[in-house]
Amino acid sequence: MLNLKGTGASPGIAIGPAQILESGKTKTVKRRILETDVQREQDRFIHAVSTAEAEISAILDDIPEELKEHSGVLKSHLMMLKDRMVFERTLKTIEADRINAEWALDKAVKHIHSLFAQVKDSYIRERMEDIEYVVKRVQALLSHSNEGLNLQELEEPCVIVAHELSPADTVQMFKQNVLAFVTVAGSRTSHTAILARALGIPAVVGLEHGIRHIMQDDLLIVDGLTGDILVSPDEQTLEKYQEKQQAYIRYRLEVIHNSSLPAETRDGYRVRIKANMELLDEIPSAISHGAEGVGLFRTEFLYLASKELPSEETLYSAYKEVIERLSPYPVTIRTLDIGGDKFVSSVSLDDEINPALGLRAIRLCLKEKGLFWDQLRAILRASAHGEVRMLFPLVSGRTEILQVKALLEQVKDELRDSNVPFDENMKLGIMIEVPSAVMMADILAREVDFFSIGTNDLIQYALAIDRVNESVSHMYQPLHPGVIRMIHSTVTAAHNAGILAAMCGEMAGEPMYAPILLGMGIDEFSMNAMVIPKVKRIIRRCIYDDCVRLVQRILDASSGSEIKYLLDEFLRANCPEEFEPADARYPEFAETGSPLLN
Ligand code: PEP
Ligand code: MG
Repeated sequence: MLNLKGTGASPGIAIGPAQILESGKTKTVKRRILETDVQREQDRFIHAVSTAEAEISAILDDIPEELKEHSGVLKSHLMMLKDRMVFERTLKTIEADRINAEWALDKAVKHIHSLFAQVKDSYIRERMEDIEYVVKRVQALLSHSNEGLNLQELEEPCVIVAHELSPADTVQMFKQNVLAFVTVAGSRTSHTAILARALGIPAVVGLEHGIRHIMQDDLLIVDGLTGDILVSPDEQTLEKYQEKQQAYIRYRLEVIHNSSLPAETRDGYRVRIKANMELLDEIPSAISHGAEGVGLFRTEFLYLASKELPSEETLYSAYKEVIERLSPYPVTIRTLDIGGDKFVSSVSLDDEINPALGLRAIRLCLKEKGLFWDQLRAILRASAHGEVRMLFPLVSGRTEILQVKALLEQVKDELRDSNVPFDENMKLGIMIEVPSAVMMADILAREVDFFSIGTNDLIQYALAIDRVNESVSHMYQPLHPGVIRMIHSTVTAAHNAGILAAMCGEMAGEPMYAPILLGMGIDEFSMNAMVIPKVKRIIRRCIYDDCVRLVQRILDASSGSEIKYLLDEFLRANCPEEFEPADARYPEFAETGSPLLN
């Protein structure tokens, strides 16, 4: 048995066999096939190889005369495609092991790798790179030629183990045979982790070198709370975790109890608690966990699900569904926020050195106006069916808001001209997630009806910590005085201008931060639905005036650890039973990512 340690990114305990996904753009999945499908699978492989051949030959033909002497590499690639060790071995493995072509090809390459490793001659060893090149090409063609080959085809419940997973990969896991996932890359605030929590899939990220010790089909225990991974556990450990798994299920049921009570402090100060949502499948969870509406609908996930751009009609009907099912509560729909760590296959973005600082979110929408136009029309049309608020991501200054509003007016004119109904008084808000927006929040507040603080990005940009880079994730500090002061001044600016201050970043859903956010005056908290009951419970234990006093003290603190200490002291005094002994019956389920009290 091996105990590996990563970062718990989505709570829950899963036990199942490992399914390794090879890194790189083409994810290879092992799939067993029926005897009757062997021929079809072999044909698929042969077809992919001949397409690769045709592609390489076409490149060869195009090489200008004066460069022909350099075409040797490509010719050798052509030969490798027909190499017995690659070609015939793959065909044989498909038949002998009854597995899919991708996996058989992978196996053949691993075999060649092991042979080459023993060769001393460096020239021969370097040829391995050529083989890898052609294999990648064939793998890409295979995955293309078989669009159905993806995570949805996993036959048995398993734990996905990968170097990294994109949000698009994670979307596919929902409702499939994925018990949990484990990755090297990522942090608690990467979109992949956010999505895992939203979908209730336990996850551990940042596993680093430990991942090498996990082999295909190894039995794994994944503890998404502590970040522990147990490889090939012994009987005793297995039993212990089976009990823990059951306890977690009981704990969730208990937490859900009373989730419809209002988020009101003991002295009667009331805030609204809403759900963040990525997919329509999350609607029942939002309702059952006591959400008072949707505070952040991350619409880009509607784009992740398909290879085609969704039409205005598709967007409209998705928005309408959320609005109608959440009625009478309001739904805040955020316009497309792609780029950064979210890519969708239907929108091609150039490779950027710094995508987080690149053409993402509102910047992209203001450039690709056609894309934005459909979004705006769909949201406006949906507003005829219930209370909708429109939210714009990654705003960095006033000019962007003015551009967006001008465009929105044009869309409204078009709808009016064709008598399409929409809410003329729909509220507009901006995400506050770029430091420049914080600094000029007083000016921006004059232009909109509400702010929603996106701490995930705000912390990333304020502390210069890439939110998806596991190497710096330990420096991602929500309680950093710089961050706390930014939140405080944003809320103050909003209230001075008479507009609402909401928060929809992950910080809003960390139960232990609730007293600080309350004391700062956050009016609406929006979070992953699963944590709503817990945050409500903490709020219901607090006295508002005490929270205000706590904030006064922490604003003077000079370090994150000092703030942590003050908060710790406050929680021990005000809601000890929530944290200490941490959830007495279920001490291990503090659900706070980085438990404050231990
Ligand atoms: C945020 O940045 O805090 C936020 C809510 O937006 P996202 O996580 O989608 O970037
Ligand atoms: Mg953001």
